[in-house]
Amino acid sequence: MSVLVVNNLQKSFGGNQALKGISFELHSGEMLALIGPNGAGKSTTFNMLNGQIRPDHGTIDFKGESLLGLSPRQTWQKGVSRTFQIAQTFSSMTLAENVQMALLSAHHQLYAMWQRATHFKRDEAIEFLRLVGLHKDADKACAALAYADVKRLELAIALANEPLLLLMDEPTAGMAPQERNDLMALTRELVRNRQSLANGLAVLFTEHSMDVVFGYADRVLVLAGGELIAQGSPQDVQDNTLVQKVYLGGDQPLFGLGHGA
Ligand code: ADP
Ligand code: MG
Repeated sequence: MSVLVVNNLQKSFGGNQALKGISFELHSGEMLALIGPNGAGKSTTFNMLNGQIRPDHGTIDFKGESLLGLSPRQTWQKGVSRTFQIAQTFSSMTLAENVQMALLSAHHQLYAMWQRATHFKRDEAIEFLRLVGLHKDADKACAALAYADVKRLELAIALANEPLLLLMDEPTAGMAPQERNDLMALTRELVRNRQSLANGLAVLFTEHSMDVVFGYADRVLVLAGGELIAQGSPQDVQDNTLVQKVYLGGDQPLFGLGHGA
C-alpha cells in the first residue's frame, strides 16, 4: 500500500529551478533512499514533505490526504516524523524527558511544553528508549550522551509520534562506520517488526554513504539537477550508466565510495 504519493513536485528559488517535477511513491514497510550529488534537491524535497516549504506545483498525498499547506507541526501530528542531519534534542533534559516531550506533542497536549514533562507517560517513554537500546540511560542528561546515542535518542523521539512515515535526513552523518551500520540495522529492524501491523512504518532517507544506501535501502531514487534520473533496486541503480556518470564520470564502481552530499 502506498503511504506517500508525490506527483510532479516543483520548486524554484528565484530563477533557480531546484526541483523540476519529481514523482514517486513510498510503500508501507519500505525503506526508500533518496540520493544525488550536492545541490540535487534532496533537502528541498524533504522540506516540502514535512511542511517547511511549500511546493510551487505538484501534490503530496499521505494516506490519501493532501499535506499541502500543513505546517511541520501539523504534518508531525498526521504521523510524519523527521530526524535531522544535526540531531535536535533538548540537551538540558534527561533522555526520558526528551521522549516524554514528544509524547506530549503526539497526544496534542501542548500545554506546559516549556515545563519539564517529568511525569507524563514516563513508562511509555522508557519503552521507546528500550526500542533503541537506551532505556538504561533514561535519567541521564542528554548533554552527557555520545553522538551516536544522541542519534538513537532522536530516533526514539521520532518513534514516540507513532509515525507511518519517517523522514531521515542523513541519519548517519558524523558517525563511525560501525555506528552507522548499527543505526541503520536498528531502523530496518523497527520497520520489519512493524510490517505486519496496521500502523506499518515507511522510511525515506537521504544518505551520502553509498555502503549504507546499498546495504539498507529496499529501493533507491536518484536525483540530479532537480530531476529523478533513475529509480529501482540498489542493484539496478548501481548498474545504471547514467547514475555512474553523474556520480563519478562513469569509469568507477559506485559502490562503497561514500560520494555526494
Ligand atoms: P541537496 O540537499 O540535494 O544538496 P538542496 O535541496 O539543498 O540540494 O538544493 C537544491 C538547489 O536549491 C540548490 O541549487 C540550492 O542552492 C537551492 N536552494 C535550496 N534551498 C534554497 C533556499 N532556501 N534559497 C535559495 N536556494 C535554495
Ligand atoms: Mg541537502
